Amino acid sequence: MKQAMYYEKREGGSVQCFLCPHNCVIKQDGAGICRVRKNIGGELYSLNYGKVTSIALDPVEKKPLYRFHPGKYILSAGTFGCNLKCSFCQNWSISQGMSPDDERAVDITPGQLVKEALKHVRHGNIGIAYTYNEPSIWYEFVYETSMLAKKEGLANVLVTNGFISRKPLEELLPFVDAMNIDVKSFNPSFYKEICKGSLENVKETVEMAAAKCHVEVTTLVIPGFNDSVEEMDEIARWLASVSPEIVLHLSRYFPRYKMNDRSPTPVRTLENLRDEALKYLRHVYLGNVW
Ligand code: SF4
Repeated sequence: MKQAMYYEKREGGSVQCFLCPHNCVIKQDGAGICRVRKNIGGELYSLNYGKVTSIALDPVEKKPLYRFHPGKYILSAGTFGCNLKCSFCQNWSISQGMSPDDERAVDITPGQLVKEALKHVRHGNIGIAYTYNEPSIWYEFVYETSMLAKKEGLANVLVTNGFISRKPLEELLPFVDAMNIDVKSFNPSFYKEICKGSLENVKETVEMAAAKCHVEVTTLVIPGFNDSVEEMDEIARWLASVSPEIVLHLSRYFPRYKMNDRSPTPVRTLENLRDEALKYLRHVYLGNVW
């Protein structure tokens, strides 16, 4: 456990967290919406600090990042928890299904993770990817590790839902080399009702990140929700207005978690949406189509 950054104490022992736009007010012994930041004795603590649930040396393309050191590898690590509640989550077992006491979580310090990453440099490793669950709510650990990694000449990559507040993002970006950010839909109600988040905050993250580091975006295409050509036109047009160099990945939905009422996205749908997005962007790829 580690005392959290970006919070203030409130009267009566409550605290308010400002790490993400939920701005949770948390009573004593309570936790925020992400369930990994807890009020203990009137102070806010990160429960997933130094807890790693998955670690692997992955091809960079698996993040997915297709135009950032292609052919290389990246040491990928994740913890548990998420600040969104997407009913279609494709990775729900670690984002929503684990607790701080889970025996699958292994303790590791920022220094140990950097050392592990350095060991793999001779195998083509370029750095550390904070991935598998939402890295922004692992903030203290990611911040400390990425600072150390940078000093050692390693790259830092975030694979994120982009739902983070402006100030913490600004302070982390100098250590970040690349991000893959989900833009789940261009419909504000989709974010609000299905993910319990907000499109505007995610757009702001994409804009801020694109000004500082390499950015690729992933849209999981779900039949009946965000698979219209009109919506893809809006997403691609906006991304191109940020930078036509932004890479877009269109990924295939499979029934998972709480959304099991529809079939996997037809590959033909993804191909049509790719054709639409290519009107505005130079690089559009399809994911999970094999
Ligand atoms: S990071 Fe967690 S506790 Fe903090 S505002 Fe977001 S959901 Fe709430």
